[in-house]
Amino acid sequence: MSTYGYREIRTPVFESTELFVRGIGSETEIVGKEMYSFTDQGGRSLTLKPELTAPVIRAYLQNNLGREAPLSRLYYLDALFRQERPQKGRLRQFHQFGVEAIGSPHPEQDVEVIAIAHDLCQLFAPQGLTVRLNSVGSEDVRPAYLQRLRDALEPHAARLSELDRRRLQTNPLRLFDSKDPDTQALLDQHAPHIGDYLSGEDQEHFAAVQAGLMALNIPFEHDPNLVRGLDYYTRTTFEITASGLGAQDALVGGGRYDGLVAQLGGRDTPAVGFAAGIERLLLAAGDALAQQVPSPSADVYLVVLADEARLTALTCAKELRRAGATVILETLRRSMKAQLREANRAGARVAIIFGEAELAQGTALVKNMATGAQEAVALGKLVEHLTTIMHPEAEDS
Ligand code: AMP
Repeated sequence: MSTYGYREIRTPVFESTELFVRGIGSETEIVGKEMYSFTDQGGRSLTLKPELTAPVIRAYLQNNLGREAPLSRLYYLDALFRQERPQKGRLRQFHQFGVEAIGSPHPEQDVEVIAIAHDLCQLFAPQGLTVRLNSVGSEDVRPAYLQRLRDALEPHAARLSELDRRRLQTNPLRLFDSKDPDTQALLDQHAPHIGDYLSGEDQEHFAAVQAGLMALNIPFEHDPNLVRGLDYYTRTTFEITASGLGAQDALVGGGRYDGLVAQLGGRDTPAVGFAAGIERLLLAAGDALAQQVPSPSADVYLVVLADEARLTALTCAKELRRAGATVILETLRRSMKAQLREANRAGARVAIIFGEAELAQGTALVKNMATGAQEAVALGKLVEHLTTIMHPEAEDS
């Protein structure tokens, strides 16, 4: 993240329920069905956060970040809660990494955000990614489209479930999120494409986003039905999916939301962001990731054999750590053979053996784990000796 110049932002585990109702929209799946809400002892309705964009914007406004700089580039890594039916890739508590770039209306900002998401996905799943892209236009073109959508679907309303019939009345855009196959079939047959309703400026913006992605060699597909699950999106919407994940194949969802800051009480401020599901990234990475995870690695393993050496070993570990070494100290009181095997497993470069004979001489044995060579070193000189072994270049200079 540091290569893109984003700063971390942390927000509380819960927020007022009202924030999500206003920010995400009352007819959305999240607000309608999935929130973990509760009333506190002061009678306030609170909700464990089901998404991060509204809380980040709330914090942005409350802390006046807009006054500090014209553009805030923020990222988060956090736990979220949604009351959904758990299945592979869908959990009730899960984690998202996301970014929000608040302040720029220009398409290069959308491209930057999509590029971060794509970089991140490639790290976990180098093959089988698909970027799906659409523009849902700015808010002023929305009413005409919504009217047209309603007109097109109303004659077929009898085929819709009760929930989707209600959506048709209150917020027909949400029909695109419906999991009902009949609704999806109806949309395929009869729904006008939102892309046909874009203003000239919306179209220019969309074309510039596509040109930016092409310049960065990020392949994408235009998906005219990608109208993402939240109410606040304007213009760019995108998703990144991975092959082989089954039904829950979306790694990332994001887009531009130029109206949200004002909707939550701030000045008109354009913004764009995405959220990536950490558990899904891990699923997509599969075994490849396990091979990349480094096994625990220590600089020094302290092999303690003599009972009288335990305190000496503890203080030696403390001093070595102060000098910057990663130190593992034996606490299972195993045999020397078992401790040295453990030192090997931990990847230690050096083992220090505290045995009775050495201790009687005021020394410990320093064993080079690569060559097997060992020498007795005075206890008082251990740290200095270890530093020269660990950083021989410091000696040379
Ligand atoms: P959303 O906030 O719904 O746009 O979701 C963004 C990303 O978060 C999705 O693409 C998934 O990778 C992940 N995600 C959403 N809901 C869940 C869930 N219930 N369990 C695990 N990951 C999820």
